[in-house]
Amino acid sequence: MSKQKIIKDTLRIHSIESFGTHDGPGIRMVVFTQGCQFRCLYCANPDTWDPSGGREITLDEIVQRAIEEKPFFGKRGGVTISGGEPTLQRTMLIKLFEMFKAEGINTALDSNGRLLNDEVKTLLSLTDYLLLDVKHMNDDWHHRLTGLSNKSVLEVAAYRECTGLPMWIRYVLVPGWSDQPEFLHALGQHFQHYKSIQKLEIQPYHRLGVHKWEVLGWEYKLNNVEPPDGEQIDKAASIFRQYFNEVVIN
Ligand code: SF4
Repeated sequence: MSKQKIIKDTLRIHSIESFGTHDGPGIRMVVFTQGCQFRCLYCANPDTWDPSGGREITLDEIVQRAIEEKPFFGKRGGVTISGGEPTLQRTMLIKLFEMFKAEGINTALDSNGRLLNDEVKTLLSLTDYLLLDVKHMNDDWHHRLTGLSNKSVLEVAAYRECTGLPMWIRYVLVPGWSDQPEFLHALGQHFQHYKSIQKLEIQPYHRLGVHKWEVLGWEYKLNNVEPPDGEQIDKAASIFRQYFNEVVIN
């Protein structure tokens, strides 16, 4: 009798965090996936970039862990898939989100919006909250900051708006790079009539990941950039408040 090899569905991840309160509503289990196409100059997790790095975990293991943590999620919490960039593993994530749905677990997806195809659309239909990272409204600056264009990011946002499902916009505020008032206004003007946007989160630039760049032997190009002070953050928030009902500092 021939032995049949059973191949299990797996996801390649960097790490899993329990009781997260910064990535979506309520208390959440946060899965950081491996692989990213962007090269953000401020990336705090450059060790997630390599799609073949990290470790493999079966979908069953992830769901089992989420079921164990479900009592802590409360009414609003659930699971957030972050990265890296999760949509690189969209085929598996569709299966994973279907499994979460079957267990009544709320799903959030934190994405850089690099890709919009039929599979990503299916994944988005299973995503209760899309946390969309808009790195810059100006395409030249977006290129400078991430190495790639913001065109797809705006397409993902427009698609989400068509579906009517909730979305949060996340914006990393980097002094001298992404705090130009004219581009903050441009972002507000672009999205101000979107009904799907529940809130805009400002994520002040920080330097917590710099040591990882050093370990990897890579040059950290923002060495002379300091995190924004309270006044700089308030200034950006007051611009965004002209366009969005809810603006929070995360
Ligand atoms: S999108 Fe996120 S993981 Fe990718 S390079 Fe930018 S900050 Fe890092």
